[in-house]
Amino acid sequence: MSELALFGGKPIREKPFPPYRSIGKEEKEAAARVMDSGNLSQFLGAWDPDFFGGPRIQEFERRWAEAFGAKHAMTVNSNTSGLFACVGAAMVGPGDEVIVSPYTMSASALAPIIYNAVPIFADIQDDIFCLDPKSIEARITPRTKAILVVHIFGHPADMDPILALAKKHNLIVIEDCAQAPGARYRGRPVGTLGHMGVFSLNYHKHIHTGEGGVIVTNDDRLCTRLQLIRNHGETVIEEMRHNEVENMFGFNFRLTELQAAIGIEQLKKLESLIEPRIELAGYLAEKMKPFGVFKPAVTHPDCRHVFYVHAIKFDAKKAGISRNLFLEAARAEGIPLAGGYVKPLYWQPMYQKKLAYGKSGFPFAGPHYDGNPDYSRGICPVAERMHLDELFYHDLMRPPLTKRDMDDIIAAFDKVLSNVDKLKQRKR
Ligand SMILES: *Cc1c(COP(=O)(O)O)cnc(C)c1O
Repeated sequence: MSELALFGGKPIREKPFPPYRSIGKEEKEAAARVMDSGNLSQFLGAWDPDFFGGPRIQEFERRWAEAFGAKHAMTVNSNTSGLFACVGAAMVGPGDEVIVSPYTMSASALAPIIYNAVPIFADIQDDIFCLDPKSIEARITPRTKAILVVHIFGHPADMDPILALAKKHNLIVIEDCAQAPGARYRGRPVGTLGHMGVFSLNYHKHIHTGEGGVIVTNDDRLCTRLQLIRNHGETVIEEMRHNEVENMFGFNFRLTELQAAIGIEQLKKLESLIEPRIELAGYLAEKMKPFGVFKPAVTHPDCRHVFYVHAIKFDAKKAGISRNLFLEAARAEGIPLAGGYVKPLYWQPMYQKKLAYGKSGFPFAGPHYDGNPDYSRGICPVAERMHLDELFYHDLMRPPLTKRDMDDIIAAFDKVLSNVDKLKQRKR
């Protein structure tokens, strides 16, 4: 048996895996045409046709809406700004609570705070890592205004029970689809299952425009509110004859013509970038099963997982070594694996100290709010367990990787797991 690379042996994989690259000639040419036009952004923060952006913004939004089966698509300069806009459009304000996942990128939970509301963390399901409807239900109070669902890692959350709860309690549902463009729940694309959905176009996502985002909704009124929030709404609301004032002040969340032109080309490629991910993740999952210590990603019936990353559960008891020791040994073999994903968000100092705006504890405490959010350790045991002990993930299913690359991963896993006794000794 060959020596583990961790102990100085030859690694299984010496050549780095090739990087993912979705940008090509089409994007370059589209960007060049915008450069030639001299018009890199046409938005105007005043009541004018350009309040809604220039020709490429409008074309990109039309195409996006069509691709995702939405009545409206609205571009923004990031998914983060998009989430802020959705929370604003949901008319969330001081004293309100929004139920969020603790196991996501931090902006998902920050969005309510921007509108002076309080995020309440519910736990996740231990198979797909999205919000657990039972835990959501237990967190609903008279102050709850919205649920912010994240389709984490590319698998849709279990939306039907979540939508049923929202209906019963009259709550707005916002979907964070940053990691899940093209994912489907019971045949329907994510994004318009709830009231509003937000996609990311940042560099790390399936398709990108450097930075950027798109919001989708089927609701005309929500769309108008989102447009006001995107682009200095307070200046146009009178001319527009919009009859709401609450939360209808705006930011500059505008995407540029340059990015929209790139986005149009990226959108055309989305499906061809998703399919190989699904195929390679499936191939790897089959080969991982016989080891008996892994639970590769599951896909619920009638759902489509688009594999932003492949999250895998590790059974340390069966393996005889901890997840972290396994990862260390596998990384030494040349396989870049990551452990745990994010810390549960309520571990962040902002929540632990309940300090966001100034020193008074606003919005977590004060005369405006009659709740008392619990951010103590243990409130979301599944998320904590995944972070600390069980979950690891990788992005080694993205094209141009092939099955040969998957075979290297399996060979490395095999080598590490055949050397568990030696690994245990080292730790002593
Ligand atoms: C990437 C990401 C975001 C933030 O997206 P930006 O476009 O970078 O603002 C939010 N939520 C999740 C789940 C993400 O993965």
